[in-house]
Amino acid sequence: MAGIYLHIPFCKQACHYCNFHFSTSVKYKEEIVAAMLRELELQKDYLRGEAIETIYFGGGTPSLLNQRDLDLFFNKLISNFSISNFKSLEITLEANPDDLNFQKIKELKSTPINRLSIGVQSFFEKDLKFMNRAHNASEAEACIKIAQDNGFENLTIDLIYGSPATPDINWIKNIEKAIDFNIPHLSCYCLTVEEKTALAHFVKTGKTKPVDEEQAARQFNILINKLNANNYEHYEISNFAKKGFYSKHNSSYWQGKKYLGVGPSAHSFNGTSRQWNIANNAKYMQALKENKLNKELEILTPEQQYNEYVMTALRTMWGIDFLKIKNMGRGDYFIKNIKTYMEQGLVFEKNGNYTLTDKGKFLADGIAAGLFL
Ligand code: SF4
Repeated sequence: MAGIYLHIPFCKQACHYCNFHFSTSVKYKEEIVAAMLRELELQKDYLRGEAIETIYFGGGTPSLLNQRDLDLFFNKLISNFSISNFKSLEITLEANPDDLNFQKIKELKSTPINRLSIGVQSFFEKDLKFMNRAHNASEAEACIKIAQDNGFENLTIDLIYGSPATPDINWIKNIEKAIDFNIPHLSCYCLTVEEKTALAHFVKTGKTKPVDEEQAARQFNILINKLNANNYEHYEISNFAKKGFYSKHNSSYWQGKKYLGVGPSAHSFNGTSRQWNIANNAKYMQALKENKLNKELEILTPEQQYNEYVMTALRTMWGIDFLKIKNMGRGDYFIKNIKTYMEQGLVFEKNGNYTLTDKGKFLADGIAAGLFL
């Protein structure tokens, strides 16, 4: 089973914290779509005929695609990959609230898309302004209602905590609102100040306070407690789901399944190597005009495969499977290093699986780094 990721590299405006690849000009949207369709043809054998389980339109802002664009993608996908019909697949489209009016939702519902990932981030105007989001607080609520009323049951929203603009009381209300809407899946990220973003510049020049680690840790704990009490499973550091609503696409990344990434900056993985397209729309399109891919490739060494497995598995509720580590020939090394974290109450072991405790969850990256080869 494998997945396909399609990166739509356009946004209406740049969110201050974002370091993804996108352009704020949609002038070349049709040309990019044409180039991506060409890439799908060129890469049709990358997954070696494995059955496709998930398709994910990410970005950027995939809700800027119109029905014609989506039809072109679906026709190309079914004619080049191992897909018997779209019904049995999880097909997600990331969408921004300002795009999701009644008309747009109806349009999306008429396509094979069966899961929406909505970039809400917050239900508060002050937060949204701080982040420079293109939508406002009322659009954040309205789009969820429209999506649910029109049969999109499988919904996920993104929320951001730890922002200087988000006091605890607003963070609590954000979580409560998501629970009240009965949204079955939530992705909640701590605000991070990435290099070369507007936010990094504001922090550097003193216009914005840096992220307060204590506040972030407190809000993460509030999140875990509130969602646990409301029947959400904390199945990955940043992801919470009601039973049956795990993201199959993201779970396959964490389980080391193969995937093909299409579009500028998109990454692909075939089990032993990783490759990524150039993060530049013009250069990406130019190469495809010549039926070529402008990409880089990295063959993963056994050490890198071990490190990747440790990093991704540790972040999930299923944890690190010791048998897999042993089969990689790293059993002794792992046991020697995990001991410290177990003594500190950051990791626990059950039936041969090593999993983070709630205390350990906030330190996941540091713990993984301590286990690396
Ligand atoms: S809409 Fe998403 S991809 Fe676009 S700038 Fe904002 S966070 Fe980044």
